Amino acid sequence: MPSPIAHLTAGYVIYRMARRHEPEPVVKGIGPLPGLLLVTAGFSLLPDVDSVVGLLTGDFGRYHNNATHSLLVGTAVSLLFGAGMKRWRGDGFRFWTGVALACYGLHVLMDAATWGRGVMALWPLTDNRFRFPFILFYGLHWSQGWLSIRHLWTLFTELLFVLGTVLVIFLRLNRRRLRKSKG
Ligand SMILES: [Zn+2]
Repeated sequence: MPSPIAHLTAGYVIYRMARRHEPEPVVKGIGPLPGLLLVTAGFSLLPDVDSVVGLLTGDFGRYHNNATHSLLVGTAVSLLFGAGMKRWRGDGFRFWTGVALACYGLHVLMDAATWGRGVMALWPLTDNRFRFPFILFYGLHWSQGWLSIRHLWTLFTELLFVLGTVLVIFLRLNRRRLRKSKG
């Protein structure tokens, strides 16, 4: 799996795409709340919630990257979240379900493009693990312990991913600004 750095970066991209459709709720005296930002960050990391159990038990391989990395589980969780938001705010079922599913699904797809054993993307229908035929992320290797030099390589490759993403966002913003100034 990639580290939280890469997952949070992907979540931030979804936040940037979604925020035009959903103004942040404003609380009197406090100002706008970063609700959408927190939701995208939370759902981008949510599939790795099982790593807490792995860390606590010291058996990362056994507990991490199983059922929570299923797209079907992600769909169910996102639908529940969307329903909860609709109940709370009166609308937005499709928006919040879509945002949650985009973040959750992207996490699973990124893990499937990471060097490792693949993800149980269709659990509970099958326990089979799926992996893309190409590798985009070197990922974290906890089996090497906390102090492995390999974590530096993980950090380096993911900082490249962050830089590339920031560059794309910057170029898009610049292009939009140019278009506005011309039109
Ligand atoms: Zn993961």
